[in-house]
Amino acid sequence: MSQDIYVVAEHLKGQLDDVTFELLGKGRELASASGGQLVALLFGSGLQDAASQLGAADKVIMVDHPSLADFNPETYATALGHVLAQKPARLTLVANTSMGMDLAAAVSVKNNLPLVAYATDVKFEDGTAVAVSQLYGGKINVESAIEGDSGIVSVLAGSFPADAGRKEGAPAVETMDLPEAGGKVRFKALIEPEGGDVDITQQDVLVSVGRGIQSEDNLGMVEELANALGGAVSSSRPIVDNKWLPKTRQVGKSGLKVKPKLYFAVGISGAPEHIEGMKDAELIIAVNTDPEAPIFEYAHYGTTEDLFDVVPALTEKLKG
Ligand SMILES: Cc1cc2nc3c(=O)[nH]c(=O)nc-3n(C[C@H](O)[C@H](O)[C@H](O)COP(=O)(O)OP(=O)(O)OC[C@H]3O[C@@H](n4cnc5c(N)ncnc54)[C@H](O)[C@@H]3O)c2cc1C
Repeated sequence: MSQDIYVVAEHLKGQLDDVTFELLGKGRELASASGGQLVALLFGSGLQDAASQLGAADKVIMVDHPSLADFNPETYATALGHVLAQKPARLTLVANTSMGMDLAAAVSVKNNLPLVAYATDVKFEDGTAVAVSQLYGGKINVESAIEGDSGIVSVLAGSFPADAGRKEGAPAVETMDLPEAGGKVRFKALIEPEGGDVDITQQDVLVSVGRGIQSEDNLGMVEELANALGGAVSSSRPIVDNKWLPKTRQVGKSGLKVKPKLYFAVGISGAPEHIEGMKDAELIIAVNTDPEAPIFEYAHYGTTEDLFDVVPALTEKLKG
């Protein structure tokens, strides 16, 4: 039975995502506990530069093929499924991102391996792998024991510090072939985010608005608060889905990752997909009438007062 811990390196055109380093840091801890090696899996085309940033791993297994140049769930699942069939791992860590969720679920079925998704922690307890994951938008944490010799865990970005896994170096690189390339799914184009709007990733202060605002007509008061604080307005996904704000303002998994000095969350519940995008803000203040809202687990300060009272009152105060 293999004791190795695998980490699937996530990248966009060879640019490694922070979550890869978060998983490598955690993977090192797990490999020490299991007594195996920490192995980074790199799928793509012409990725020598990326491999040299994976020094935290003992080894890199690389599948290099032109059809892996852009993410394609079918081809990537073929690559990962093949690696795991040839060289099983004790645990395979995948980022719980749009790419990783696709990949982990497909390979779980393909290779008949148990999968725990939405994980925020992974550990060994008496030799059994246990993953902690979030359910119901982060309101409940569940511990799942992973039965058997091997399993997959998809981990939410931001669950572990990235610094522990950030190490340049030249780990041994083993190359493996892609057994078959042409599937039914074809990569067509990468749609870059629209330009021309405020860049929320560069703002020191963000007043972020969620579904609690109820109507597009109420956005004006949030804009006023952002102006009074010298910042910009960002939002959760439902606001963008309703077309009340452009996609460039969306914070989260399928939006942008932000790290402002102040993140003022107004009427946002704090679903894991939202938290993923703002967790690293220096100061988080939340206004939410539900004391059980998950956002309060991340907020440094918070109030359960009604946002329709708090926002105008605060703006008044700031305007002096
Ligand atoms: C694959 C995937 C990707 C996703 N990507 C993203 C993403 O990038 N970003 C994102 O945000 N979401 C994303 N989501 C959606 C996410 O799961 C949540 O549905 C979403 O974040 C909820 O938005 P919200 O907090 O605004 O709304 P809700 O969850 O409805 O929360 C509204 C909150 O407002 C509070 N409230 C109501 N009235 C008041 C009041 N008067 N005063 C104060 N508080 C009040 C309520 O108590 C509630 O907590 C994604 C989901 C999936 C499946």
